[in-house]
Amino acid sequence: MRPPECVICGNDFEPGDKGGVLNFKKRFSDYVWERKMKRIGGVGHPPYAEWFCEEHYTRAEELTSMTINKAMEILREEEEQKKSK
Ligand SMILES: [Zn+2]
Repeated sequence: MRPPECVICGNDFEPGDKGGVLNFKKRFSDYVWERKMKRIGGVGHPPYAEWFCEEHYTRAEELTSMTINKAMEILREEEEQKKSK
């Protein structure tokens, strides 16, 4: 696992804060990754999981039924729109 740092805004936060890790819908490549980790007994940050701070967690959680690519696309777009206002 990587240290807790929001993938959207880059803010890091302490364990115990309201943000956290979200797992998204697994893609084919994610199943491949899991099988490989199991085979080699490895651990790592799952490619379908990301950290979100308190501010971004709730919205991100609504998108966990999507793959991470799609969810990140939406979240980043929404973030851009927020900034340009
Ligand atoms: Zn954030």
